[in-house]
Amino acid sequence: MIGLPTRRFLLQSGAALALAAPRGVNAQAGAVVDFDVVIVGAGAAGIAAGRALARSGKSFVILEARDRVGGRVFTDASLGERFDAGAIYIHWAEKNPWRPLAEQLGVEILDSDRLPGSFRLFQDGVTIQRASRSGYAVVSERFDPDLAPVPDIAMTARVAADGDEALRAVSNLARMALGEEAERVSSLDYARLWSGDDFVAPEGYGSLVTRAAQGLPVRLSTQVRAIDWSQQGVIIDTDKGALRAGAVIVTVPVGVLRAERIRFTPRLPDDTLRGLDGLAMGALTKIALRFNGERFGIPSGTDLWDIAGPRETFDFECWPFDRNLVVAMFGGDHARDIVRMGEAAAVELALARFSRLVGDGARAAFLGGRLAGWSEDPFALGSYSHALPGHADARAMLAAPVGGRVFFAGEATGGESFGGAMTAGGAYLAGEAAALRIIKG
Ligand SMILES: Cc1cc2nc3c(=O)[nH]c(=O)nc-3n(C[C@H](O)[C@H](O)[C@H](O)COP(=O)(O)OP(=O)(O)OC[C@H]3O[C@@H](n4cnc5c(N)ncnc54)[C@H](O)[C@@H]3O)c2cc1C
Repeated sequence: MIGLPTRRFLLQSGAALALAAPRGVNAQAGAVVDFDVVIVGAGAAGIAAGRALARSGKSFVILEARDRVGGRVFTDASLGERFDAGAIYIHWAEKNPWRPLAEQLGVEILDSDRLPGSFRLFQDGVTIQRASRSGYAVVSERFDPDLAPVPDIAMTARVAADGDEALRAVSNLARMALGEEAERVSSLDYARLWSGDDFVAPEGYGSLVTRAAQGLPVRLSTQVRAIDWSQQGVIIDTDKGALRAGAVIVTVPVGVLRAERIRFTPRLPDDTLRGLDGLAMGALTKIALRFNGERFGIPSGTDLWDIAGPRETFDFECWPFDRNLVVAMFGGDHARDIVRMGEAAAVELALARFSRLVGDGARAAFLGGRLAGWSEDPFALGSYSHALPGHADARAMLAAPVGGRVFFAGEATGGESFGGAMTAGGAYLAGEAAALRIIKG
């Protein structure tokens, strides 16, 4: 579902050109190849790798299982009002490559601090007038590596001595920011993440990423099933036939790799497998609800947080960019359960929870909803990666090249010391770095 047919045409005509490229001898592999490099996945990382390779003159193609580019950065316009079903924030914008790229491509971006915003808190549908913030203050200190070294233990263990408020705060934080239960996330992995200004693209982060892919040779609806690196170079087997290349950049999400949706021959080295074992995917989920223009007295940009139980928190973002949409966000195990219910039941549940906050008028004004259920999406199998407690070295293990010709790159390996992990900016840096390694030889 690419937004504009013209973009799709450009991508597909690019792919056709790449397919027509003559076979050559890859100096590194010393073998007859179809391409110097094959990139698996046309998300932020694959697009970045492609842009770097295009500048180098290497021959390459990007193989993408979906019928669109962008992966987990996707602006969904199917409700008639667009919303970012995956990434929305250009995090740590001071050094995020998507910021200058937006400027270069003429895509408007704004500092999210300058947008209208306010916050209302509910407990089981009932307004809470005063909420204590002390738990969050403790949490921010415990995970600040500038204050004290952060150990590689569960996030819950890190605040175990700080009382119930801190425990509740860390659980909410992990569920809503990482999509995961705090007891399953390494404190050190979380503490390494970069922070900074958050920018947004009103047109959609997905639209920006799609635009960055224009002109790249992408083969859509092409699923990679196996990668054989047993001889010189690599053979990539897809549902549309096999390709031979000097090297492969694999950008599919950790969820897809862990589920062994791509078979490697010979099996991957123990260290790579240990890296994968130490990583897991969260389940941050969004449901967009479209309304007829009725706003229930809620100003644009208001977040309604409903803490609906010990493990259930919903954030209803109302009328983003003044659109007639409410985007519900939630994570952790209850998100996994909701996604498994299927779109119709999940949308109904989100509408019921939202109605509880604003009144039954919501149902009368409701026009339709959309579930972005990444945890069951076969080409993501989760929202984004985190290291398990005791496995803070897992990202480095996955990032190490295999046999000098298989490179894993994506959000899971993003940025120096993995400070960009989990984000589309980190994915860009990882994809570009893998391509540059191949170019330099
Ligand atoms: C709900 C949600 C909210 C988020 N919010 C933010 C945010 O605000 N800011 C931010 O920076 N990040 C956010 N993220 C994370 C961000 O979306 C990801 O970190 C980033 O998009 C990952 O890019 P990638 O290229 O590594 O992977 P992907 O985007 O997943 O790209 C990998 C590609 O590989 C394809 N693929 C999978 N299997 C195969 C196969 N077998 N053969 C061929 N192709 C295959 C996939 O279809 C996909 O297109 C969010 C994610 C989610 C889910």
